[in-house]
Amino acid sequence: MILLVMVAATGCHCFSAREEGRGNTVGRLDRLELKVTCCWNIPPAPENIPKIVDGAKSLGFNAIAWTSRRQDALLVKLCHEKGLKAYKVLEPLGIKKIRRENPLLQVMEPGEEQLPGAAQIPKGYLYQWGGEPVAGNREVHESPLACPNDPAVLSHTMVMVKEAEEIGYDGVCWDLIGYRNYHSCRCPRCTECLAHWRKTNPSAQESTFFENQLVFLYNDLGSEVRKQYPRMALLCHTYPEFTDNPFYGRRLNVDWCGVTVSWFFPPHWPMEKVKVLADRVVNGGYERPGVAGMPLIGFYAGDFRKSPERIREELAAIKAVRARAIMVDELGDILGDPEIAKVVREALSDRSEGRAD
Ligand SMILES: [Zn+2]
Repeated sequence: MILLVMVAATGCHCFSAREEGRGNTVGRLDRLELKVTCCWNIPPAPENIPKIVDGAKSLGFNAIAWTSRRQDALLVKLCHEKGLKAYKVLEPLGIKKIRRENPLLQVMEPGEEQLPGAAQIPKGYLYQWGGEPVAGNREVHESPLACPNDPAVLSHTMVMVKEAEEIGYDGVCWDLIGYRNYHSCRCPRCTECLAHWRKTNPSAQESTFFENQLVFLYNDLGSEVRKQYPRMALLCHTYPEFTDNPFYGRRLNVDWCGVTVSWFFPPHWPMEKVKVLADRVVNGGYERPGVAGMPLIGFYAGDFRKSPERIREELAAIKAVRARAIMVDELGDILGDPEIAKVVREALSDRSEGRAD
């Protein structure tokens, strides 16, 4: 799933020396260069695309990451007419959207096929759909995924990147790169590679091997895109969770590294945790120059709803750590909730400049 540029509007977001010197949080959201949202709860019918683009703009977003496979050209056209950037969400390990034949599927550990998410979700269980499991819970991602070690992933994904580039997208946003069980793959290829790696890394943690496989895939993809389509920006959302190191995004060859700081589903994370995560995502130290951490906030309506005050606090937490980018999902649910929309609009709008919190 779930993620953004220098935006057409970028020139409007230069922060002044005056603002830099304030020493408090006033106006810091105006330093955001990239404000991106995704939309999957409004059907991608042609008549809805103007509503989606106008809705995103009205909330103060300056980019949309498009997850649907429908209406790409119209979405890109309208985004550009309205001064928004458009990014294509691609899921290199997703065997549905990439639709390639004979994927090398991930293999989970013994017994994990029975965990919530793969077999079923028990009634009342607080399943997190690929986000960090609730403390003490064991669960897995519900969908089969290709193995990150499958060499065909790169070539198949680059076909999708080419399509996105030809449509006119400003970049791509990698999503769904991770493990079904959030920590490993025991397919024959990984098993063989792990044994080989173990010979030269006899005392290293096994989790390093599995983290490396994700990083290498991201970085191979990143190198190819930069080589073939240098105008394309690279975004990501590190999802599903890699539980052994949720901050492996610091190693990635991307421009904007999206990492969850507040997930969609109850129990919503304590605000203290959100603040710590936001700081780590933004100020954690990325290996490659120019990479910006992009905190992600999730919001769903209905039973999962966060209060307007809570959303206000989350946006303020990201403001406080001086983020350059933010991702907030899901657009349809935000637009459908006037109280939440008002909070987001106030926080992201240029008009918030100079206001006290
Ligand atoms: Zn594997």
